[in-house]
Amino acid sequence: MSGDPLDWLGRLGLSAPGQAALFVLAVLVFLPAPDVDFLLLRLLHHRSILTHSLLLPVLVWLLLPGLGPGAAAGAFLGVAIHLAADALSPPRGYGAVWWPEPFQSSLGRWSTLWLLGNAALGAYLAFAVLPVGEGWRMLALGVGLVAALGYGAVNERSVLAVLVCGGIVAAGWWAHRWWHPP
Ligand SMILES: [Zn+2]
Repeated sequence: MSGDPLDWLGRLGLSAPGQAALFVLAVLVFLPAPDVDFLLLRLLHHRSILTHSLLLPVLVWLLLPGLGPGAAAGAFLGVAIHLAADALSPPRGYGAVWWPEPFQSSLGRWSTLWLLGNAALGAYLAFAVLPVGEGWRMLALGVGLVAALGYGAVNERSVLAVLVCGGIVAAGWWAHRWWHPP
C-alpha cells in the first residue's frame, strides 16, 4: 500500500506542518465538492441534500482517520463556506435543496435554513475537530477567511457572499471559543 495516495497523505500528516498542509488542501478540495451532484444528475438533483449537507466531511472524519484531524477540519470548513454561499440564492429550482431519487422533491423554502444551519454547524465542527491549541484556531480562522474572500469574490462574484461566507467562518471560530475558552 506504500504507493497509495491516501497512505502518502497519511505520512504527510504525521508532522504538524503536514497537518496544516492537509488542512489547507482539504479546504481547497471541499470548497467545490458539494457540486459533484452535477456528475450524478440522474440520481441526484442539483443541490442534492446528500452533497449539500455535512455528509461528505463527516465521511472524511469517520472513514479517513489515518489522515489526522487537519483533513476533516478542512473538509468541514470548505463545505461550510460553499453552503453559506448557496444559501443566498432564492430556494427555487436549482436554488433549492433536493432529495435524491426516487423522491426528487425539494425542501422548498426550508432550503435556506438547511444550508445556513449546515454551514454554521460545519464551521463550528472545523474548529472543534482540530488539535487543542490557539495556533490551530488562528490558522483555521485565517485560512477560512481567505477562502471565504476568494470563493465569494471569484466564484460567486458577490460582496454579500464574501460577507456571509466570512461571517460563517468567524461564527464557527467564535462559537468554539465561547464553548472552549483558551
Ligand atoms: Zn452548491
